[in-house]
Amino acid sequence: KHIPGGVNSPVRAFKSVGGKPFFVKKGEGSKIYDIDGNSYIDYVCSWGLLILGHSPPAVINALKNKIKFGLSYGAPTEIETELAQLIKKCIPSIELLRFVNSGTEATMSAIRLARGFTGRNKIVKFEGCYHGHADSFLIKAGSGVATLGLPASTGVTREVAKDTINLPYNDVENFTKVVEKKHEEIAGIILEPVAGNMGVIPAEKEFIEKIRELTQKYDIVLIFDEVISGFRVALGGAQEFYNVNPDLTCLGKIIGGGLPVGAYGGRKDIMEKIAPLGPVYQAGTLSGNPVAMTAGYQTIKELMKPDVYQKLEKLGKKLESGIRSNLDKLGIELQYNRIGSISALFFTEEKVYDFASAQKSDTKRYARYFHEMLNRGIFLPPSQFEANFISLAHTENDIEKTIKANHLSLKRLF
Ligand code: PLP
Repeated sequence: KHIPGGVNSPVRAFKSVGGKPFFVKKGEGSKIYDIDGNSYIDYVCSWGLLILGHSPPAVINALKNKIKFGLSYGAPTEIETELAQLIKKCIPSIELLRFVNSGTEATMSAIRLARGFTGRNKIVKFEGCYHGHADSFLIKAGSGVATLGLPASTGVTREVAKDTINLPYNDVENFTKVVEKKHEEIAGIILEPVAGNMGVIPAEKEFIEKIRELTQKYDIVLIFDEVISGFRVALGGAQEFYNVNPDLTCLGKIIGGGLPVGAYGGRKDIMEKIAPLGPVYQAGTLSGNPVAMTAGYQTIKELMKPDVYQKLEKLGKKLESGIRSNLDKLGIELQYNRIGSISALFFTEEKVYDFASAQKSDTKRYARYFHEMLNRGIFLPPSQFEANFISLAHTENDIEKTIKANHLSLKRLF
C-alpha cells in the first residue's frame, strides 16, 4: 500500500523465488531474526556488507560514542581523513579518494570522471556485472535486473544506452577485437573483477591481464568495481588477489560498516580532475558523514587484525567441501563457484564462467531450494543470481548446520 512492491530494493521482494519476505526484527552475530519469532543463519549479510556479522560490538560501541557529538555537520571532520588513510593503506592503487553515499554513486561518479579525464564518451561494461542503478549501467546488468529477467530498464534513453558497450565476461578475444577497433571512443572500462551479481564468477587471470594491458596501451581508464570484492576477497580486494592495479576503484558496502557509504578513488592525476580541484563535478550533502565514517573505520580496523581472511577462507572451504560431498552422495551434478567467503551454488551441470552460462541455471529449482533452506533456518539470497556471504561471526557449527540443511533440501529436490 505504501512502498512499491513493499520493498525499497527489488530483490528483497522474493519475486523470483516466490512467497513473501519476512520482516526483520534484529540481527545478531551470524543470525537474523524476524518479527514472527523465527531466526535464520544469514548468508545474505545485508548483500555482503556485514563481514563482521550483525551488530559487531566494536562498531556499535564506537557509534554510541560518536553520536553524542551530533550526526552531520556539512563541514570536514577528522574521521573522513582517517578512514581515507586506512583505505589507502589497504589498497595502495588508491592515491586519492572521495566518499559518497552508495555504490551506485561511486560507479556513476567514476565513469563521469573517466569521461572528463579522457574527453571520450563510451564506457565498456560486461554482461551480468552490476554497477548500481545509474542509467549507463542498466543494460544487460546483473543483480535485480537479472533476477527480474529485464534486458534493460525502461526510462534509459537511447542516447545514453548507445554510449555503453556491453561485452561478455571472461571473453578475451571479443574484448580485444572491440577495443582494438573502438579505443579512440572509449573513456573507461568498468568491471567487477570478481563478479558477484550473476552468482559468483571470478574473472580469469588472463582476462583481467588483457584488460589492463589494452587499457594502458590506449589510455583508457580502467575501473574496478570492488563494491562487493573490496575488503572481501582480500584486505586489498580483488586487485590484491589478482595483483593487477586499476586506475580507479569503486567501493561501497563493507567500507560503511552497515551505514550508507561508497567511495571512488585511484590515480592522483585522474582524481585531481574532481571539483573543487578540477572541472568534473560531484558532491553530496551527507558524503563523508561522520557517523557512517566511524562505522567504516571500526570495521576496517577489525579486518586489519591478523588471520581474518584465513578464517573466512577456512569457513568458505568447509562449506564448499560439505556441499560438494552432499552432491557426490546424492549423485547430483551442480556447479559451485567460490572465492574465499563468497560463493554460489548454480543449478546447472555446466561450468559457469559468464552471464550466458549462469543463465542456464534452473531458477525454478533454485526457488524451491531457497524455500527448503529457509524452512530449515538458513537464509540464502532470494535469487540464483546473487552471492552467498559468510561473515566472521559465522561459526563452524553454523556451517555444519547449513551443510546438513543443504543435504536434506537437495534430497527433496532431485
Ligand atoms: N557495484 C556492485 C558490484 C554492487 O554489487 C552494487 C550493489 O549491490 C553496486 C555497485 C551498487 O551499490 P549500491 O546498492 O550501494 O548503490
